[in-house]
Amino acid sequence: MGKILEVKNLKKYFPAKKSFFGRAQEYVKAVDGVDFHIDYGEVLGLVGESGCGKSTTGRTVLRLLDPTEGTILFEGQDITHFNKKQLKSVYKHMQLIFQDPFASLNPRKTIGATLEEVFLVHGMKDRAERRERARELLEMVGLRERDMDKYPHEFSGGQRQRVVIARALAVNPKLVICDEPVSALDVSIQAQIINLMMDLRERLGLAYLFISHDLRVVRYVSDRVAVMYLGKIVEIAPVEELFQNPAHPYSKALLSVVPALKPGNRRERLVLKGEVPNPVNPPSGCRFRTRCKYATRECSEIEPEIKPVGNGHFVRCHLYNSA
Ligand code: SF4
Repeated sequence: MGKILEVKNLKKYFPAKKSFFGRAQEYVKAVDGVDFHIDYGEVLGLVGESGCGKSTTGRTVLRLLDPTEGTILFEGQDITHFNKKQLKSVYKHMQLIFQDPFASLNPRKTIGATLEEVFLVHGMKDRAERRERARELLEMVGLRERDMDKYPHEFSGGQRQRVVIARALAVNPKLVICDEPVSALDVSIQAQIINLMMDLRERLGLAYLFISHDLRVVRYVSDRVAVMYLGKIVEIAPVEELFQNPAHPYSKALLSVVPALKPGNRRERLVLKGEVPNPVNPPSGCRFRTRCKYATRECSEIEPEIKPVGNGHFVRCHLYNSA
C-alpha cells in the first residue's frame, strides 16, 4: 500500500511568555515529538482530551502552522519547509475539513462561485467546464444543481458541511485532514455526514486523518487509532485492538466510557483524576505520571519510549518496557 504521509518527531511550540525585550521565555509545547504515518486509503483516528495537541498536529501537518521541529513527508516528499508556492501543489492532494463549516465559507459568495473559484485557482480556465465540474461535485455530496446559486446562510449545518466536503474534493485530494468534522452538527445529521465521508473514501480511495474527541465516531471510521496526551502519542494500534485491549493507563481511562461491543462484556468505568498539567511545564519523565495510579520513581525520572507490544500495537509506558 505504501505511506501517503509520514510525520517524524513533529514539534509545535507557541510562545507563552515574553521577556521585557520581547523575546519568548516560555513556550506552550502543544505538539512535542509526534511520530506516525498514514497509508494510502487508510483512516487514522487521532483522539485525546481537549488541549492534547491533536488539532495543532493536524494543522501543522497541513502546514497551516510552521513546525518548530521535525519532518513531514507527503508522498515521500519532504514538505516541512515548503514555501507558499510549493505548498500550492501539495494542496492539490491534501485538504482540510474542519468543525465549523459556516466559518470556512465566504458568506457573500454562492456555493457555485465558491467551488468554481477552487477550479480557477488550480488552472481550470474554461467557465463552462468549471460550472459542470461544480455541479458534479454537489451531486457527489448529495446536493442538487439548483443549490449552486444559494448562499451559505440558506443551507442547514449538515448541508454546509456537505459543501465544505465538496470544496475539499474539488482538487481530487488523496488525503483529507478532518478536524472534528461533525461535532458542530446535530446528532441526527452526524451519521449522514460520516456515512457520506466513508462512501467517498470507498469511491475515491481517500485517506483521512480523522481528529475527534468522539470515540464512538472514531471507532466507526478508523482503521488505526492514535491516542494523544499532552503533546505526545501514548498509544497507537489497529482500531479494534485498541478499543478491546487498550494498554496505556491513559487510554484505558479514556476508552472506559465507550460501551463494549458485546452487551455481556461490561467494563469498569475509570475516572481520570486531576487536571491535565500545564503544557508549558509538562511533568518530568512520563507526562501522565501525575494522574497515573501505577506511577513509580522511574516514571518521574525517565521518559518512556513508544514500544511495540504485538498486533501492530505500540505503547509509551514503562509497564510495557520488557515487551
Ligand atoms: Fe503510568 Fe509510569 Fe506508564 Fe506513565 S510510564 S503511564 S506513569 S506506569
